Amino acid sequence: MIDLHTHTSCSDGTDSPRELVNKAIVQGLEILGITDHDTTSGWQEATESLRGSLKLVLGSEISCLTSDGISVHMLGLLFDPNHLEMQQVLEETRDGRLPRMRKMIEKMRAEGMDISIEDVHNAMPSGATMGRPHLADALVAKKIVRSRDEAFIDLLHNESRFYVSHAAPTPVEAISLIKRAGGVAVIAHPFASLRGEILSSESFTDLLQAGLDGIEVDHRDQNSDERELLRGIAKDLNLAITGSSDYHGTGKLNSLAENHTHREQWEKLESLANARRVVSA
Ligand code: AMP
Ligand code: ZN
Ligand code: FE
Ligand code: FE
Repeated sequence: MIDLHTHTSCSDGTDSPRELVNKAIVQGLEILGITDHDTTSGWQEATESLRGSLKLVLGSEISCLTSDGISVHMLGLLFDPNHLEMQQVLEETRDGRLPRMRKMIEKMRAEGMDISIEDVHNAMPSGATMGRPHLADALVAKKIVRSRDEAFIDLLHNESRFYVSHAAPTPVEAISLIKRAGGVAVIAHPFASLRGEILSSESFTDLLQAGLDGIEVDHRDQNSDERELLRGIAKDLNLAITGSSDYHGTGKLNSLAENHTHREQWEKLESLANARRVVSA
């Protein structure tokens, strides 16, 4: 099985890169993609933990914001980790997440909730990309909600009055950056409509022009109608079709490899990177 989209404790997953690699080996995965939000900090530990026949596809899920304020996630896979501009853009996005978190907390405190930035820091591993799931964990620790899921449903979803966005590249900027860094660009869960406003079908032509290589079709946040629409767009535009778990450890219900990518689609994607960067033991 090929699972190209997972998270570790370097962002908002709960398994360390080593634990995730071990789970993938135990489950007999063929290829594991590690795509923490806006960081490559887990790549080294994952590489050092690799054994047996498992292969690693290292990447990052890059947070993007369209000019209309729609949140988009772009998977960059197999790019050169030493690409200076890529590391700068990832760092800028990570840096913008702290003032954003402070603003969300300010809004919550204004409504009488007992939550602080220290609570969020206490709820996350140091160095991880800070995100709403860590705020959710802090709200659980403070007994304001019972779970990450409840925190998102009641307080933290994209349309919530507490939601604040953070500075991020546009999807077109992220795609062209991924391509300049030698990688492949796959748009993550583009029609996950329950999360909030989504891209229109027409916007895919701009993404294609920027260099988009693939579309994540099989993902638990997309229903069968949404998946069929995306499959049609991918076929029309000759883009690779992927499926993945978006595993977050115990932070989400998603189980490793619950959706996966077909081998011929993966081979098509892999051939589009500017160097052979799949990691073997
Ligand atoms: P952020 O990047 O800070 O805007 O947070 C987005 C992250 O929240 C994504 O990685 C999602 O996987 C995660 N997320 C969204 N909804 C939920 C949920 N119901 N339970 C747990 N995590 C969620
Ligand atoms: Zn996440
Ligand atoms: Fe995502
Ligand atoms: Fe993800």
